[in-house]
Amino acid sequence: MPNSEYFINLEEDYGAHNYHPLDVVISRGEGVWVYDVDGKKYLDCLSAYSALNQGHNHPKIRKAMTDQLERLTLTSRAFRNDKLGLFYKKLADMTGYEMSLPMNSGAEAVETAIKVARKWGYVSKGIKRYEAEIIVADGNFHGRTTTIISFTTNEDYKKDFGPFTPGFPIVEYGDIDALKSAIKENTAAIMLEPLQGENGIILPPQGYLKAVRALCEENNILFIADEIQTGLGRTGALFACQHEDVRPDIMVVGKALSGGFYPVSAVLADKAVLGLIQPGEHGSTFGGNPLGAAVGIAALEVIQEEKLIDNAKFMGEYMMDYLEEIPKKNILDIRGKGLLIGVELKHELGGARRFAETLQDRGILVKETHTHILRLAPPLIIDKKTVDWMLPILRDVLLMD
Ligand SMILES: *Cc1c(COP(=O)(O)O)cnc(C)c1O
Repeated sequence: MPNSEYFINLEEDYGAHNYHPLDVVISRGEGVWVYDVDGKKYLDCLSAYSALNQGHNHPKIRKAMTDQLERLTLTSRAFRNDKLGLFYKKLADMTGYEMSLPMNSGAEAVETAIKVARKWGYVSKGIKRYEAEIIVADGNFHGRTTTIISFTTNEDYKKDFGPFTPGFPIVEYGDIDALKSAIKENTAAIMLEPLQGENGIILPPQGYLKAVRALCEENNILFIADEIQTGLGRTGALFACQHEDVRPDIMVVGKALSGGFYPVSAVLADKAVLGLIQPGEHGSTFGGNPLGAAVGIAALEVIQEEKLIDNAKFMGEYMMDYLEEIPKKNILDIRGKGLLIGVELKHELGGARRFAETLQDRGILVKETHTHILRLAPPLIIDKKTVDWMLPILRDVLLMD
């Protein structure tokens, strides 16, 4: 039996080095647990950046997938299939948006939202052609395509990859006045994450999303929310925007939309916006395929049937209460919502990687983000017993020298 080192060397020798993973080689996953090639068991506290809200290898989603695998996997959108309509209906019933447009990766869905918002700007708002702007926030993360990295503020994500796509003014995240000043006649939309996950679990000031909503209303601008990471229960609400009773015009979802089985993403909006897209104007060979649709329906049903939103809220608050009691020896800040929690370590400690590696030894997998921050985001199916096992270990490690 080849060991971890063998697989790590294969990756290092033959794969592009666009990630710096922890050296754990996982070969099996079930629920909140994963097992490495040596049989060691770990709690997955990252959930594939929230793609695994339903846990690993969820039996209901697996069954939907294998049943569909045996019947039909791909038709292309040149033909119809008997799953896509059901997926649309499920999305509409659950989210309250009239229409959706299915894609595969999150970045593709963001690209789709950008195209839809620009078209709305020209056709509905009357912006001069090719002058539409979409305002975005400092510290944003919306994916890795060339257009999306054009408006990232993270140098690593963009340097050496230009030339860049114009039309995306950047404002301070959480600053409503900055946003107000950036709005012009040719502003078609503002695109935001309601909580910036990749940027280190950054929450905007209370009331910000509501103020953004009002500003969009006043200026006839679309509000695009990227809830690829925060949506589908992660923060203790179906969408993080709902914590402020805000309904964006365009909602972008991905990740947990497939429960980790298959890339499925979607843009959700009402007919006045998404209805503008005409045949031939946008597409994807795999987007809306029956396998992805079957998986998507099951993934959404699991969120409802297992009350994952309530569980995320309860377990998140429970974890937060415990974490806040830990002496601040190494901790600079703890913040988050639901089961998306960031522990920022004091910067003089030289980074969170060492803490992530110690947690790995102790059977908990987390990943550092932005050098100093540990992101705690277990699958939303996590139970109290498991949380009670995890918390004292976290405490130990957060108090280490
Ligand atoms: C992960 C993520 C994306 C990109 O999704 P991919 O499937 O990796 O393309 C976009 N926006 C947010 C907020 C994300 O967390």
